[in-house]
Amino acid sequence: MGFSKKEYDVIIIGGGITGVGTARDCAMRGLKTLLLERSDFATGATGRNHGLLHSGARYAVNDPDSAAECIRENLILRRIASHCVEEHDGLFISLPEDDLGYQYQLVEACRSCGIPAEIIDPEEAKRIEPTVNPALTGAVRVPDGSVDPFRLVQANELDARMHGADILTYHEVIALITQANRVEGVKVRNTQNNEELEIRGKITVNAAGIWSSTIARMAGVEITMFPSKGALLIFANRVNKMVINRCHKAANGDILVPDGDVTILGSTSDRVPISECDDVRVTPKEIATLLREGTKLVPVLSSTRILRAYAGVRPLVAEDDEEAGRGISRGIVCLDHEKRDGLAGFITITGGKLMTYRLMAEMATDMVCDKLNVKRRCETAVIALNEATDQTRKAISRTTYKGLNSLPGKDDAALWTSAESLYLCECEKVTLGEIKDLIASGQVETLTQLRRRTRMGMGKCPGRYCALRAARLMCSVGGKTTIDCGRDLADFINERWKGIYPITWDTTLADAQYMASVYKGLCGLDKFQTS
Ligand SMILES: Cc1cc2nc3c(=O)[nH]c(=O)nc-3n(C[C@H](O)[C@H](O)[C@H](O)COP(=O)(O)OP(=O)(O)OC[C@H]3O[C@@H](n4cnc5c(N)ncnc54)[C@H](O)[C@@H]3O)c2cc1C
Repeated sequence: MGFSKKEYDVIIIGGGITGVGTARDCAMRGLKTLLLERSDFATGATGRNHGLLHSGARYAVNDPDSAAECIRENLILRRIASHCVEEHDGLFISLPEDDLGYQYQLVEACRSCGIPAEIIDPEEAKRIEPTVNPALTGAVRVPDGSVDPFRLVQANELDARMHGADILTYHEVIALITQANRVEGVKVRNTQNNEELEIRGKITVNAAGIWSSTIARMAGVEITMFPSKGALLIFANRVNKMVINRCHKAANGDILVPDGDVTILGSTSDRVPISECDDVRVTPKEIATLLREGTKLVPVLSSTRILRAYAGVRPLVAEDDEEAGRGISRGIVCLDHEKRDGLAGFITITGGKLMTYRLMAEMATDMVCDKLNVKRRCETAVIALNEATDQTRKAISRTTYKGLNSLPGKDDAALWTSAESLYLCECEKVTLGEIKDLIASGQVETLTQLRRRTRMGMGKCPGRYCALRAARLMCSVGGKTTIDCGRDLADFINERWKGIYPITWDTTLADAQYMASVYKGLCGLDKFQTS
């Protein structure tokens, strides 16, 4: 591919939201940019969170700097990424056992951080949010929302490519090339064929989330990360219209985020060893905690079907010994290792949040530009993601444009035949045309990659029929063999199963048994060797 022959201005490690956002910013400023991800996009914390577009109110009392960052970025994301954002506001509710005095403290703190926060009457709260706990004693309305992390990552990734960035997934950085106290590039391993190559870059940006400390150690530099595991549950119905938060000091199970047709309840917070971060599992104790606290916010959750459980690890940076990590700042950490450790050509950008990624990218890119003496200023706060130009239209698949506010949906419809406008995944409204396009474009090799790019199989039925239909297209359009497609389908179902098995009781158990009888009994998928 010739990547080792090129000399990049900047090499970015990590295909989470921080990495893809930084790649977009660097490429927009004219830098020769390479992004490296060891797996697929959004496989770290970026694909494992609530998707809450914080107003900042949650942090206003204890972490006002993070709160102020949140409200600024909240307003920017609504503008530049409106196709990834749901604007529905949020409530902070007080229950009889809560100190109502905290409500006044919250409102005061919000106001001093520039967050609009309005106390509303509990009766008004019940009118606008009918499923909220009717025992509530107070409510504050704030501009919370939700953001689709998968779509946001894809939007940044495609935009970075359109501005000339090279992007390699399934390429793991295994060493940093250093020479006389300077990082001069990286050594990477292609995880699909085990080939190793060296790539040179003037600056290397470490955006590897919780794994940032592992990358830094490759150059002999220490960063003390605080891996804070959080578990979440997805419910099969959208039970609330707005985000519902508990009005008290941040604790377990006190955020309920509506997202499309479903509701996400989170989260817990426990320190885990860094060695466990590659494979975090949800425990029965975490599920019990979430259900106990979640039903206090919205009692109907106790009888709502749970779709999936999942967990992620927050990339927090802290030097102290705190147990849970709730008290650690969610602020951004941007380290110039030349100043900090005497190691030139190396920057770490971590901490922060999904919804402050743009600011994180701006800070890292400003630092890169300073070092390279590049004067171009950041434009990511004003230029919307995936602005439609003739060039972008021709260059990338039609799939990308789905839901983009800058392109009316009728354009998509006009591009596809009526048969291709049929839904292949009914839950997430993904059409046959989109799936065919994406497979034909060569951007996806597996059903799981297809899921991350289109949301196929993420909805109420965990890919019950759409996975089978898409597997068929992998053969007919993607040219794969039946054996390869069978193996891929088995991998896809196994991957979905990881999120289902912790909550297999009641209707979820019946659903799981039905899935097993279709895929094992009818399709014989258990005969395929999975990876
Ligand atoms: C439970 C939970 C709930 C959260 N809720 C919210 C929320 O509601 N709103 C919000 O704004 N934020 C939320 N967050 C925080 C948010 O998810 C993270 O701050 C953000 O996603 C971090 O993105 P990142 O790109 O820095 O890290 P990651 O997404 O973890 O990406 C790092 C990437 O680096 C890659 N990598 C690692 N090592 C290597 C290597 N050697 N070579 C190449 N690549 C490598 C990994 O594979 C990974 O893809 C939550 C987090 C958790 C865990």
